Amino acid sequence: MASKKLSLTHKIVIGMVSGILLGVVLQLTIADHPWVDAFLVNGLFTVVGEIFISSLMMLVVPLVFVSLVLGTSALSDPAKLGRLGGKAIALYLFTTAVAISFAIGAALLVQPGEGMDLSTDASFDAEEAPSFGQVLIDMVPRNPIDAMAEGNMLQIIVFALLFGIALTLVGKPGERLKNVFEDFNSVIMKLVMILMSVAPYGVFALMSRLFADMGFATIGSLAKYFVLVLVVLIVHALVTYPTMLKLLTGLNPMIFLRKLRNAQLFGFSTASSNATIPITLETATRKLGVSNSVSSFTVPLGATINMDGTAIMQGVATVFIAQVYGIDLTMVDYLTVIATATLASVGTAGVPGVGLIMLAMVLQQVGLPVEGIALIIGVDRLLDMTRTAVNITGDCMVTTIIGKSEGQLDEQVYNNPDADISNE
Ligand code: ASP
Repeated sequence: MASKKLSLTHKIVIGMVSGILLGVVLQLTIADHPWVDAFLVNGLFTVVGEIFISSLMMLVVPLVFVSLVLGTSALSDPAKLGRLGGKAIALYLFTTAVAISFAIGAALLVQPGEGMDLSTDASFDAEEAPSFGQVLIDMVPRNPIDAMAEGNMLQIIVFALLFGIALTLVGKPGERLKNVFEDFNSVIMKLVMILMSVAPYGVFALMSRLFADMGFATIGSLAKYFVLVLVVLIVHALVTYPTMLKLLTGLNPMIFLRKLRNAQLFGFSTASSNATIPITLETATRKLGVSNSVSSFTVPLGATINMDGTAIMQGVATVFIAQVYGIDLTMVDYLTVIATATLASVGTAGVPGVGLIMLAMVLQQVGLPVEGIALIIGVDRLLDMTRTAVNITGDCMVTTIIGKSEGQLDEQVYNNPDADISNE
């Protein structure tokens, strides 16, 4: 419905664009006016931007825990839960593998590192990739309070699932507690909405600071790499996802893309799938019509294990670094890259810049110089922002597919253009 008032999406876009423009202007004036840096960029905008991100993060743990306990208790049947979990994990890993294969294919075609000789003294340390067994062990929290304090999403998910199952098994006390959780959930949701209403200002501050500091000069020499990652990300979000959604659910993918705009904007500005969980969850339940019993599980899980956008960057970066260093990769190497990048995304939190740490693991696996990351780090922030928006789109797509296949998607809500909390 046309409304006289600007929608939240429009306000966020205005905040974002004006923040970017102001940031660029500030960047040009900083050298002559040191106060711009002291009072605005490192002063006001940093304070407002950091407070905005912290407020989002503040809601993540209580929201995931409470809504997942409620979601699990609503499912009641453990077999259903197992099926849902299996489907979600399989789909998340599958879409990540598709994304990185697509990226490697595109990079081999375009050859972004060809004819480039970028020598660098910078170094980048790779972390050891945890073994699959270790990932499984680490999923079970020894201390749930610790898991919550650290924001360890997989551990919180495991605890919430077990808690939710037990809640349904204890009868009366469980029902009483469920009512408390429902009230708790409403309060947190209210907080999410309050936070969303101030998002345009938060986004404005974040963008102003970021673009005032952004090193545009490095983009020039890496233009081919930069543009290729960007194009593959956009094609994946606008072609691969809608096609998959249409094929697997028959739902109109244009509606899906339109309803995802807010979550994508949050993902883009924060560069963190984790920080965006409250908005992703809200989008999945209230706009896309997926029931909380599915989305409360698939959304936080996706924020942690599903990183299609990140995988795309890793695919292109691997080919790029191999070309710059003149190292030929074999078919087996490429398959290793696909497997490592897909598995590395399990257990890695969706926070800014984590993709580069995962990339270090991938490069090490195929014997490429990890220092190669120093070549691309200068242009990574903008790509990080874009790939986070793609990661979130992937989380919502899988959530919608599972919701539909489990009979937990309300198509009336999905098809209703006004089912949008931002207009409330
Ligand atoms: N920032 C990304 C996310 O949170 C992860 C990454 O690619 O670095 O989803």
